[in-house]
Amino acid sequence: MNIRRRKFDALIIGAGGGGLRAALQLARADAQVAVVSKVFPTRSHTVAAQGGVNAALANVTPDNWHWHMYDTVKGSDWLGDQDAIEYMCRAAPRAVYELEHFGVPFSRLADGHIYQRAFGGQSRNFGGEQATRTCAAADRTGHAILHSLYQQNIRARTHFFDEYFAIDLVCDGEGAVLGAVAMEIETGEPILIEAKTTLLATGGAGQLFRTTTNALINTGDGMAMALRAGIPLQDMEFFQFHPTGIAGKGMLITEGVRGEGGYLINADGERFMERYAPNAKDLASRDVVSRAIAIEVREGRGCGPARDHVLLKLDHLGPDVILKRLPGIRDLAMTFLHIDPIEQPIPVYPTAHYTMGGIPTNRFGQVVVPEMQSPEEAVEGLYAAGECACVSVHGANRLGGNSLLDILVFGRAAANHIIAYLKDHRYHRPLNEESVDRALARLARWDEPGDGERVEDIRAELKKVMETHCGVFREQTVLAEGVEKVKALAERMQDVRLRDTSKTFNTARVEAMELENLIDIALATVQSALARTESRGAHSRIDYPERDDQNWMKHSLYFRDGTLDYKPVRIKPLTVESFPPKVRVY
Ligand SMILES: Cc1cc2nc3c(=O)[nH]c(=O)nc-3n(C[C@H](O)[C@H](O)[C@H](O)COP(=O)(O)OP(=O)(O)OC[C@H]3O[C@@H](n4cnc5c(N)ncnc54)[C@H](O)[C@@H]3O)c2cc1C
Repeated sequence: MNIRRRKFDALIIGAGGGGLRAALQLARADAQVAVVSKVFPTRSHTVAAQGGVNAALANVTPDNWHWHMYDTVKGSDWLGDQDAIEYMCRAAPRAVYELEHFGVPFSRLADGHIYQRAFGGQSRNFGGEQATRTCAAADRTGHAILHSLYQQNIRARTHFFDEYFAIDLVCDGEGAVLGAVAMEIETGEPILIEAKTTLLATGGAGQLFRTTTNALINTGDGMAMALRAGIPLQDMEFFQFHPTGIAGKGMLITEGVRGEGGYLINADGERFMERYAPNAKDLASRDVVSRAIAIEVREGRGCGPARDHVLLKLDHLGPDVILKRLPGIRDLAMTFLHIDPIEQPIPVYPTAHYTMGGIPTNRFGQVVVPEMQSPEEAVEGLYAAGECACVSVHGANRLGGNSLLDILVFGRAAANHIIAYLKDHRYHRPLNEESVDRALARLARWDEPGDGERVEDIRAELKKVMETHCGVFREQTVLAEGVEKVKALAERMQDVRLRDTSKTFNTARVEAMELENLIDIALATVQSALARTESRGAHSRIDYPERDDQNWMKHSLYFRDGTLDYKPVRIKPLTVESFPPKVRVY
């Protein structure tokens, strides 16, 4: 078909922190780089990150990257790959100093050093006292990072396709990925962007759930594109529920509140985390705190008329700390609850937050499939970084402050690998035009008007099913019913039609394609969860309450036809000894 075509050295799909960090590295190396984003870049979800980014700078308390590595391995419940974790934790201080030089206005200590706060699951000396490792720009760290990266990209002349929706990857006859087809949202016109390399940096899939901290744009598009290209998704059963979402609404109240000294209480006024995590208390790992809150509510110690939440108390911190370190949280509480946290506690309950699973990559950002574990055998031309990828540094449970670090470190690492690849691959290859036609057919489907089911109805049902059948606590029958219900929604999706398409906004077409993506990701999540008969990290099975290292210390791989495969955890780090699995207590 005759459509608009552009050619670049590197295509990056996604303008969050992961995509922009990679783009900057490439543009500064004089590569021709295009970034496609379905929203204006600074509206990407990285902008919402509040609490901070981890790096063992030792500005407040003694620290080193090896302790950070231990905490991350333990936080991952030993499912994280220790080579990637070592790489990330060692690279962290440099990543933060780079940000400082890009212009990120970090909060400061009295001596001028970068301010660091305590976050959950962080320790000194391999499990000792609480560490203070999270570098913050008040409680708007993601906002500061994203704006600085965007400005640096403008300066480096990165080419932006703002408000373009990527539909599908295109390839040659041998499976090498050579770019993508996208739709310009304003006009509805398709465009083919050919590139020698393509990096997926499309963020997470928090829109799977009804109560979530994630924006409407987090629909797992890149993961679904990878699935359609025949690539399996890794560890999709591990979805993080953040303990402190605003009760009944889902917006995030950062862990930084507890890092500054806030704590949780139940209806009896009891500081209940002392029972669940005697040492770390409110700063235990997120999966541990989320389960504790759910149990308090289930056993009748919840607060409010419906006894359906607990309270996050921070009034004792005093106005100075709240106004200086947590101004965004105060705004959120006042806007959505009409509560001033300087005077009153905030009602909270766990809320869907972070996709630990994703597109399998090695630590160079290359997408790798099961039997292709060495860098040489990766999917040619395809990279992934950030929340859509699974490298895997978060394993079964991500530590707060490690995701901003992940996007910076692996965005940069992927770009460095691409720069080397481009030196050896100087010419564009011929495309398989059938892959272009397939992508265009996805778009064309939404040009046919009809009277079928409505996108918004299926989407609402999907979110409800996922919340009910694949939440904080899971069980065989409930999960199995969830699989059937999502499959039924996938069937009904065939009958979904847009009404009078001549009057339809292109955003309705985007929402329809996002829903197709979400359904694929929902199936991956619930089927992977049903298959894993153990409890590990965020995956908590009532019927299999113990972690089972003998049978389950392995990554799951879900294919689009519904089959599952597994691959071993990379337990060997790069330069240090492995941290062998042990009981995980806080
Ligand atoms: C409320 C909140 C607070 C958080 N706070 C912290 C924190 O303090 N510390 C921390 O470490 N982590 C935090 N996180 C997690 C962290 O912010 C995210 O994991 C991270 O920013 C994701 O970055 P990303 O670059 O992978 O994706 P995003 O920032 O989500 O960007 C995705 C990009 O992909 C684009 N895109 C997606 N699909 C398409 C498509 N089909 N076509 C074109 N473009 C597309 C979007 O437009 C966007 O530009 C927080 C998360 C939330 C929700």
